[in-house]
Amino acid sequence: MTAPAKTLCPYCGVGCGLEVLAQPQSAASDGTQPSLRWQTRGDRAHPSSQGMVCVKGATVAESLDCDRLRYPMLRQSLEAPFERVSWELALDTLAERIQTVINSQGPDGICVYGSGQFQTEDYYVAQKLVKGCLGTNNFDANSRLCMSSAVSGYLQSFGADGPPCCYDDLEITDCAFLIGTNTAECHPIVFNRLRKHHKRNPHVKLIVVDPRCTDTAKVADLHLAIRPGTDITLLNGIGHLLLRWGALDQRFIDRSTQGFQDYVEVLRHYEPALVAERCGIEEVALVAAACVWAEASAVLSLWSMGLNQSSEGTAKVCSLINVHLMTGQVGRPGAGPFSLTGQPNAMGGREAGGLAHILPGYRLVKHPQHRQQVEQFWRLPAGRISATRGLSVGEMMLALEQQQVGLLWIAATNPAVSLPDLNRTKAALRRSPFTVYQDAYYPTETAAFAHLLLPAAQWGEKTGTMTNSERTVTLCPAFRSPPGEARPDWEIFAEVGRRLGFAEQFAFASSAEVYQEFVQLTQGRPCDMSGLSHERLAVSPIQWPCPVQETPATAATKHDKRLYTDGIFAYPDGQARFMTYHEKGLAEPADAQYPFVLTTGRLYGHWHTQTRTGRIAKIQKMHPQPFLEIHPHDAQQLGLQTGDWVEVRSARGLVRLPLLITQNIRPGALFVPMHWGSLWAEDAECNALTHPESCPVSLQPELKACAVQVVAWPKPKVQEEDLQAEIGIITPAAGLPVESSRLSASPTF
Ligand code: SF4
Repeated sequence: MTAPAKTLCPYCGVGCGLEVLAQPQSAASDGTQPSLRWQTRGDRAHPSSQGMVCVKGATVAESLDCDRLRYPMLRQSLEAPFERVSWELALDTLAERIQTVINSQGPDGICVYGSGQFQTEDYYVAQKLVKGCLGTNNFDANSRLCMSSAVSGYLQSFGADGPPCCYDDLEITDCAFLIGTNTAECHPIVFNRLRKHHKRNPHVKLIVVDPRCTDTAKVADLHLAIRPGTDITLLNGIGHLLLRWGALDQRFIDRSTQGFQDYVEVLRHYEPALVAERCGIEEVALVAAACVWAEASAVLSLWSMGLNQSSEGTAKVCSLINVHLMTGQVGRPGAGPFSLTGQPNAMGGREAGGLAHILPGYRLVKHPQHRQQVEQFWRLPAGRISATRGLSVGEMMLALEQQQVGLLWIAATNPAVSLPDLNRTKAALRRSPFTVYQDAYYPTETAAFAHLLLPAAQWGEKTGTMTNSERTVTLCPAFRSPPGEARPDWEIFAEVGRRLGFAEQFAFASSAEVYQEFVQLTQGRPCDMSGLSHERLAVSPIQWPCPVQETPATAATKHDKRLYTDGIFAYPDGQARFMTYHEKGLAEPADAQYPFVLTTGRLYGHWHTQTRTGRIAKIQKMHPQPFLEIHPHDAQQLGLQTGDWVEVRSARGLVRLPLLITQNIRPGALFVPMHWGSLWAEDAECNALTHPESCPVSLQPELKACAVQVVAWPKPKVQEEDLQAEIGIITPAAGLPVESSRLSASPTF
């Protein structure tokens, strides 16, 4: 029996190690070779997860052969059917289109939208092509929807991106402060580690801040069910009490920070009674939370989309970091602000420069020296990298509306479900003169807006690296061949680059060579990975920083590397900054017409827009359909009962869902899961309701809150056959091998 392949789970940013085993199936009846069936299990040797996996990691292999895009497909218009074409024709068409747009509109007429599903090698080659060779910074990734507020918060507070903590802190801390994160469902293995520590050690406190009583909040010592959008008020209120009690680390403040007096001035405005009233919590609960902060020797804050997906996301992140700075709770075992990454390789994307404002090695587009360093390294003429920040994905949609985009290239992501204000987004996508969609699966909702489909190899079919939330880099080797003619994303980007005349820049023979080049660009940078290679990572996952001087032995065995342990931060003067903010509130608060605040989120089993998990029977059974959570008081006011259907309307669109009446949500707030696009249910796209207002710094949209109204809706009498017909909204193209994947239509409420 062959040894299992060791790799990383391709879902969330926890980054659990997996072992993949091949099981031969019986020979096919047509005499062809027996196929292999793949099974995953936790890798006990992986330092981040120690053998644990959640249902997603345990079932991921079941989607490998479902509904795969196998061949390049081309069509002349969105109304025409796709026709299979050769890679030669597909790539020539794409290269010619790019050249035409550059000649007629300039390089900024091209927009590329990538994904935290990319491996770092994919990200790196895409940056070299788009920002280096084409000369536009219009490369953004779905991390914009997920982590960009964490990036800008770290940058403002510490002078550089990069979570300072590691997972070992989960088992050392004596106060875990979870704000805006349903860790139990969205980052289950991080939560398992924390929960075990919490159970075994009665002195360890778990505080959860969330408008919903989630599975995470249910086991907390203290749950602060604040009004949506009042996080900054709460954090400044905690800071106010710590200041009043003198619970400060004055030595740390003096030696390692700037701006404390400004922060003190802000905190004066956050008297406990006022804070409690604004947040909708008891004053005694606020005081209890501040007491735990004051008394704990190590406070570890975890957060994810609840802070990041906000029109003041950067301000929220900085307000949280301020409390850590005033108490010296950073750079120490068990302490620090720790963002939990959504996508499996959003961290690798940040390292490789995979957002519109950054360059590889945690460099910034706006920094002339950074641009020069990268241009020289890529052997490109001076000035080739544009000094203008590229368009965020939201700005790309606006540019499409204004017909400023000549070519849109989307890869490994599904914006026709995941972007806010979806009706407007779809209208913008329809205006694209030429859209390339590079993905592993077909159909997806976004494929309906494409002119050219490029089949991509996915997890397990290409070799590359991914970095998880604690900065541990894992090599993910190919253990099977891609189906049909699918190719790794990095190879597709490189091939286009060569066709555009950049043979020297894309003369990579393997992804190991790509990685070798990339890590050199990180040398001397905060995310120094110059000591890493595929060869070394084949032995064991390694946490960065890992400079070239680090010996293989220490690099491979240490997995508790924290940043800023010496109290020296990444600003040139070595000091962190108190970045002070008052709360502005929700971009779209409830009003008389739209009296509820709707929040969106994930469920334990599903992943994002279901491109994989929608094709896995066990997960479909677990979460068969979308729903709307409402408090019993609100349901009674509306005369509704569990199982009734409602129409939820915002100023932009509507959804129709069955009700789940629950005490787990605040009165006045509603919750809908974000996983259902038009492929999986009718009128259930939560982003039909959401608005596109974004944080002015991070440009991350406020997907977590919008104002809505609720009205009764007749229960649909939809039969399974009808639903089968409805998912034909994206009709499989002739010649494409499409297997049927369907969810159960039976309500479970
Ligand atoms: Fe995969 Fe995240 Fe589950 Fe770990 S916790 S198995 S990385 S989905």
